[in-house]
Amino acid sequence: MKLGLFSDIHANRDALARVVELLRGLGATSFLCAGDVVGYGPDPAACVGLLRELGVTVVAGNHDRAAVGREGPAGFNSLAREVLEWTTARLTRDDAGYLDALPLAADAGPFHLVHASPSDPGNWRYICSAEDAEPELDAFSLPACVIGHSHRPLVVERQGGEIRTLRATRFELRPGARYLVNVGSVGQPRDGDRRACCALYDTDSREFNFHRVEYDIERVQRRMRRARLPDYLVTRLARGR
Ligand code: ZN
Repeated sequence: MKLGLFSDIHANRDALARVVELLRGLGATSFLCAGDVVGYGPDPAACVGLLRELGVTVVAGNHDRAAVGREGPAGFNSLAREVLEWTTARLTRDDAGYLDALPLAADAGPFHLVHASPSDPGNWRYICSAEDAEPELDAFSLPACVIGHSHRPLVVERQGGEIRTLRATRFELRPGARYLVNVGSVGQPRDGDRRACCALYDTDSREFNFHRVEYDIERVQRRMRRARLPDYLVTRLARGR
């Protein structure tokens, strides 16, 4: 079976549609999302709708919780807060109920799924290096934990006592090893590559592959401008930072 994995959609409908199309084309039959469905982008309701339609296994991100009032504004900068208010006003009761019911953690196949850190998933700590990942690798029982939150792909592997960062976009889950994998961001990448990021896992071959896909950024930017979303968020889509 092939699993499609992605995170941090941030209400970017065009990027999400392209990612789903790509993963389906590669044979994915079920999908996992590590949270932040909404926030920053212009299409919160459409993104919630697509995830519900596909039956995606989704965990809550900090933006999802804040959009439905389960998280205070303290952890967000002023631009993020502004868009969260805008987002809340555009969710139907049904959409809000969906986001409100998202769990902080879920298990699917060989993957434990959280938005930020497995040791304390409601605390929104960033894991950006092997050093950050080391104390997290024993915080889950499945072989690998899939996260998002930083909007930058990262793979940390521990085999025996040795911890290393894998730089390849393709690797195999080795028996006995443990992994922490950040699957990057669909709707607002920050690693310098503006293309939407996602991954595919094959449960038979144990192969994990990252993918990047182009989408119509200008169209999304036009919708953001029409909605009067902050200009910094509009222009950063094209920079991928
Ligand atoms: Zn995010």
